[in-house]
Amino acid sequence: MGFSSYECNKCKKSILSHHAVDHYQGEIPFRYTESVWFPKKDMEPIIGYYDGYGNVTDDEGQETNVYAMMEHEPEQVYECMVYHEDCWHEAGKPTKWVPSNHAEDQGFFVGTRRYS
Ligand SMILES: [Zn+2]
Repeated sequence: MGFSSYECNKCKKSILSHHAVDHYQGEIPFRYTESVWFPKKDMEPIIGYYDGYGNVTDDEGQETNVYAMMEHEPEQVYECMVYHEDCWHEAGKPTKWVPSNHAEDQGFFVGTRRYS
């Protein structure tokens, strides 16, 4: 399985893998590097760096697999809500459940122009 990601609920740009951020060194503004994940309704958000494979690492180095926490029965559709951290703050830290769209670029195969 390759990279997988979702679009930010505010700006509709992808939640980027930290591998993409490294790959496009300096071309992607810092504001898109941390993200806020709600793998389920009514839970506290998980905030950190996304690796593109479902793992989010917070500032203290704690890694959480958000895919393992998502609801996916009965149709194997994995739903979560996610924002770039800056976007989440700008939007007033919303917690009302609105599932995010899957990112076709998988959070990695991005055109940097979209992020400048
Ligand atoms: Zn955003």
